[in-house]
Order: sequence, then C-alpha cells, then structure tokens
Amino acid sequence: MTENTASPTNFIRQIVEQDLASGKYNSIHTRFPPEPNGYLHLGHAKSICLNFGIAQDYQGQCNLRFDDTNPVKENREFIRSIEHDVQWLGFKWNGKIRYSSDYFEQLFNYAIELINKGLAYVDELSVEEIRKYRGTLSKPGKNSPYRDRTIQENLKLFQSMRNGDFEQSKACLRAKIDMNSKFIVMRDPVLYRIKFAKHHQTDNQWCIYPMYDFTHCISDAIEGITHSFCTLEFQDNRQLYNWILNNITISKHPQQYEFSRLNLEYGLLSKRKLTQLVDKGIVESWDDPRMLTISGLRRRGYTPTSIREFCRRIGITKQDNLVQMALLESCIRDDLNKTSPRAMAVLDPVIVILENLPIGYKEMLNMPNHPNISNMGTRSVPFSRKLWIDRADFREKANKQYKRLRLGKEIRLRNAYIIRAERIVKDQDGNITAIYCVCDLDTLGKDPADGHKVKGVIHWVSMEHALSAEFRLYNNLFNVANPDSNENFLSTINLNSLEIKRGFVEPMLKNAVAMVTYQFEREGYFCVDSVLSDNLNLVFNRTVTLRNSFQKN
Ligand code: ATP
Ligand code: MG
Repeated sequence: MTENTASPTNFIRQIVEQDLASGKYNSIHTRFPPEPNGYLHLGHAKSICLNFGIAQDYQGQCNLRFDDTNPVKENREFIRSIEHDVQWLGFKWNGKIRYSSDYFEQLFNYAIELINKGLAYVDELSVEEIRKYRGTLSKPGKNSPYRDRTIQENLKLFQSMRNGDFEQSKACLRAKIDMNSKFIVMRDPVLYRIKFAKHHQTDNQWCIYPMYDFTHCISDAIEGITHSFCTLEFQDNRQLYNWILNNITISKHPQQYEFSRLNLEYGLLSKRKLTQLVDKGIVESWDDPRMLTISGLRRRGYTPTSIREFCRRIGITKQDNLVQMALLESCIRDDLNKTSPRAMAVLDPVIVILENLPIGYKEMLNMPNHPNISNMGTRSVPFSRKLWIDRADFREKANKQYKRLRLGKEIRLRNAYIIRAERIVKDQDGNITAIYCVCDLDTLGKDPADGHKVKGVIHWVSMEHALSAEFRLYNNLFNVANPDSNENFLSTINLNSLEIKRGFVEPMLKNAVAMVTYQFEREGYFCVDSVLSDNLNLVFNRTVTLRNSFQKN
C-alpha cells in the first residue's frame, strides 16, 4: 500500500514544534523505554510510533532503553523479542541499545546525594506498614518512625543495604518529601528496595534495585532526552519526576508529557494479564495469532505498514477510549487488498464431478495473480474432471438471490468454464457426497455460444492436484468489549476463539512461505503459519475476513 506517512498533528507535535521554534531545543531526543518483562503489544506500537515517529519527522533521535529494574520478572528472551519487534515495525534506534542498569552506579550516587541533602532515608517499616502509613486520597499519611534518622546513619544503612547486610524487605530507601501531599506518589516514595536476584545484565553485582520513578527521570536526563512521553496513569508521577531532577546535580531536565493508552475492544493490552494467558496455557504462546502482541499479529499475517497505519489513524490524545477492532481490521485489509496474490482454497469441501469430461482429463489454465494489478503476473492452475468446491457454494433449491450453484442451474468456475449441476448423490444421513455436473468447454473467458449470461462465480481446486491443508480461523479472545474492566478477566474468555478446518488449496501453495498473505476468494486473507506449518501439514492462518464481519460473538 502506498503508505500515508503524513502524521496528523496532535498536542504533542504542537509542543515539539513550539520548543523547536522558540529555540528551547535545537534537536529533539525521545526514547522508547520498555520493561523486558513480556512481549510487546499493540499498545506499545502506539508508543513506538509516537516516539520514533516524532524523532523521524523532526530530524531527531530516539533511543531504545530497556527499563530493567526488576530482574525477577525480566529476561533476555523478552529483550530479544522487543528488539526484533521494534525493527520489524520499521524503526531504527539511535546508537547502541541502552539499559537503565547501565546507570546503576550513577543512580546509587544520586541516591547518596539525596541522603546527604537530608532528602532520603532508610526505612525499616514492613511493606505492609508502609502501605498503611501512606494514607489514602481522603486520609493524610503518617511519618515513619525512621524518618528522622541522621544523615550519617542513613549513609551507613544505605551502604549496608548495598552490601547485603539486610534481609529482603527489611529495609528500603525512601525520599523524604511530604506524607500529607495530595499526590500519593509524593508521600515519601520508595526509591530503592532489596532484592537478592540475579540480573540479566549486571549478574549478582547488586542486591538493591532502584524503583521506576527514581530510575526513569534520571535515565532520561543522562541520555539527554528532551521530551519524555508516557501514558496517562503516570500523570501524578510527573510531580516526582520533577522533584527528583530538581534535587540532584544533573544538567538536563527533560519534560514528561502524558497521552492516553490504547485500549482495543474485545482485546487486552496489559502485559501482566497477557502473561497470565500464556502462563495458564489459555493461548499457545506470546505469539499466538489471537494475541494482540506484535509477534502474534505478525504470525497472523499483519504487516508493519498496517500497524503503523493503525497507529496513525487512532492518533494521540489525552482522552481514554476504546478503539474498535474494525479499525485495526480495516487497516490490514486496505494493505493486503493491494499486495496479496489471489489463490483458491476450499475450506469445507464437497466433490464436483464433470461427467462429460473423459477420465484423466487435465488442462492447465492460466490465471492472473491479482485481478487489477497485471504486474503481479499469472500462474498455471490444473483443471480436471473432479473438483473440490465449497459446500456453501451449492444448494439443491434456492431462490434467485442465491448466486452460486443450484441443481439444474449454471455457474462459472473462477477463471475457468461454465458448469451446470445435473444431479447429486447423498449418504445415509442425507449429506451431499457428490455433485454431478456438465462442463461447457466452449466458455473459457467468454459467454456460452448462444450468448446467454451466467451470473455468479465460485472457486474450486482440482481434486487430483489439490493439497490438503489446515485452516485456522480466529475470533476475538474475549466475549466482552472491555475485558480489562471485568474483575475476573479470565471469566470473559471466548472458548470459540479458534476454529480449525481441513480442506484443500491449489498446488502452487506448496511453495507458500510464511509472511506472504494470499487472498482466498470469499474466505479472507490467509498466510502460512510460521510455527505449525511444514511439508507434511500445511497450516494457514486467517489474517482477516474480506469484509467487516465483526460480530459480538
Ligand atoms: P503494560 O501495562 O502492558 O504492562 P507497561 O506500561 O507496563 O505496559 P512498559 O514496558 O513499561 O509496559 O511500556 C513501555 C512504553 O509503552 C511505556 O512508555 C508505556 O507508557 C507504553 N505503553 C504501554 N502500554 C501502552 C498502551 N496500551 N498504549 C500506549 N502506550 C503504552
Ligand atoms: Mg510500565
């Protein structure tokens, strides 16, 4: 698809443009800061397109920084998958990959600086007590009895924390701000906690790890980030972001701006919950084609272009909303319609026998790979006496609205001949097992000799030449529009999110490779499954149906 690269303006672009126009900055520097504790999802794509997109459009830079402060939940597999997904989406980060853990020593020294200024203290309340002392939106917090330790004592204890002299959860470092602040994040937030956990980058070097709020602003400043974009739930954290940078000796002070998260109807975009789907075996893996992860969408046949276009269409605002699945689907359809070769596949097969053709009849028919794009070329498709057609393409009786094959009536086989159904054979249960037809061999690319018109076209594959294939049809993973708002989101799982069919495809699909999506007439866009498909069992994923068949299950 000719990609629409012009991004609609939004409040963030306006801020960036003002900052460039006023000379506040000469160049823009953004970052995408995932925590490597899961695979990226479509919500992250929104953030990626924003951060990398702004950098691209204003000739700036965008860093990829792993926000790796919780080693217990992070690993290298997640790191690799994130790098791959960002590249696959078409973006290039500035210089080397950064890790917050690169700054652990600097962060430690900034913590010492806060202690020396009387702005941080070692607390020995339990996690539970800290929660209780914090208060609520309507109730002020209460000072910890450890709050007024001397600077000397705090320095000594913080060093002991680092040395591993405390047990896990027995001490933490907190900022000394205001237990009565109307922003709960400002009620002496924890800056460091003890975790005896091996880290994927720093190994066993540390047993204290900095918290997100402490780490993020300092990492941004160290990297010279100008604009730090995050989602709205961090609005209050901006107070702390600024407080920390205002109270340490650091030359840069990036500004944080918040935008609304992406929420998608009938989908879930929260790593914590997606992790549960994987861990409980509700889906096969992070790249299960039903998952709204980048890897799941890729495996299902979504293209980078379609995901970037989706992000462009949803835009950037401060309003929380629930985007319709139909919007995502229309982006992939628009792309695939222009790029997908056509092919024939029969998902629910029934036999057609062309009685008037001799046994062993075979002919190669030339067909365009795309009805409107001639430079996509043509292919040869075998035609013979016995064909598979789709069960839904035949009825014994039907009214005139029915445009497919009926007993006694004619139809055109796609890019082939006109046939007429003469009689059928059924099994004991009344199911049709064969449809006997006659074929008019004088109708290739033209009307019958007497000039009458035949409306309606159905697709087919030659039985003798067909390849058996499995088709995986996907539905929404959830039964409700907003599973995230349900207390128990697991109870809203759609048990029919995967439907498997066995049928046939034309022989050239033997060479189908993963990531190339075909349009199977009337059935939708399909691509070979990169994990399950092999020489013995061809497996196709339905990327999307041809039209908006979006149903509320
Ligand atoms: P999740 O809630 O899925 O665990 P997260 O915010 O914890 O997401 P991070 O790895 O910290 O995940 O996210 C990296 C960046 O992606 C952050 O800047 C975050 O704001 C952004 N992001 C995450 N989810 C969404 C979303 N649904 N919409 C837009 N941006 C998102
Ligand atoms: Mg996060």
